[in-house]
Amino acid sequence: MKDTGRITTLPPRRGGRRRLSLVAGGAGFIGSHLCRALLDRGDSVLCLDNMQTSRASNLLGLQSDPNFSFLRWDIVDPLPPEVLAKTPRIGRIYNLACAASPPLYQRDPEHTMLTNVVGTNHLLHLAEEAGARFLLTSTSEVYGDPDIHPQPEDYRGNVNCTGPRACYDEGKRAAEALAFDYARAGRAEVRVARIFNTYGPNMDPADGRVVSNLICQALRGDELTIYGDGSQTRSFCYVSDLVAGLMALMEAEFDGMEPVNLGNPVEMTVNELLEQILGLAGGRMRVVNHPLPVDDPRRRKPDISRAQELLGWQPRVPLSEGLAATYAWFEAEVGTCASEVGQVR
Ligand code: UDP
Repeated sequence: MKDTGRITTLPPRRGGRRRLSLVAGGAGFIGSHLCRALLDRGDSVLCLDNMQTSRASNLLGLQSDPNFSFLRWDIVDPLPPEVLAKTPRIGRIYNLACAASPPLYQRDPEHTMLTNVVGTNHLLHLAEEAGARFLLTSTSEVYGDPDIHPQPEDYRGNVNCTGPRACYDEGKRAAEALAFDYARAGRAEVRVARIFNTYGPNMDPADGRVVSNLICQALRGDELTIYGDGSQTRSFCYVSDLVAGLMALMEAEFDGMEPVNLGNPVEMTVNELLEQILGLAGGRMRVVNHPLPVDDPRRRKPDISRAQELLGWQPRVPLSEGLAATYAWFEAEVGTCASEVGQVR
């Protein structure tokens, strides 16, 4: 599948050396694609990941690249000397470090909150020291169960701060507040992306996401699980589109004082997604309905006008094409998939 979106090309070298981009969470699903794209652009990449929810196999293709280095590190802990020593070379810091799937981030909610607040602060401080630009991957979850549809960036959201999703939703909201405070004080240049549902190769089969769950269940010949009646909606963005958007946002020349939605505005019900996956799987499958998880948003669709205007970006990969590539990847790479897919509370 070809790359999509417009990626601004910057001079890759700084002081005669390749520019160093730090990617926290770079071994994860989106992070691993971002590392690849940065290397392809000519950057050196330093990837930090605690491997809590990332897959070691996502690193395989990256580690053979001489411009890629990896350190297993949890950003909740103060950054180690081997990272601080690279401060003068660091030009860009992407923060993608946080479990993002509800069953996984709910497993250790305290850690999820600390990753977003303490971890983000560690990276912002590094950006300040390095004079580097910092990009926070925030989330559509900051809108909670939205009562405005589609969601523009100036919608302030409907988040339940006492529910089981709060560690993630409120953690990301706090991380945004922190990033904008650094920017307001002139301490670091920041960019904040609000990422909507994303899918593609390198997803963790045990992530508990609807796309990975349904594909893995279909490949194993298991029952396909639909939470609730499947009438809730989501808008699914293929990972190459998303990565192009993240890089365009990082390089965009503006004051950075506004978050930017990145996602695919084509909205569908979970049942419509199921139909597409059943079409790829062929044959007859049994579908079972499970209870809808607590605080599961009813509808979600990004308003991407800001990204279109500011970055000239919009998704290019249609769902049929992206899903076919994702299905083929799961079939080839993961075979039968993990025996236990993630379950949500
Ligand atoms: N979902 C589902 N079956 C599954 C996993 C998820 O029907 O096996 C539903 C889930 O309740 C939600 C939607 O699919 O309404 C998207 O869930 P996902 O976890 O992929 O993303 P998020 O809830 O973060 O948007």
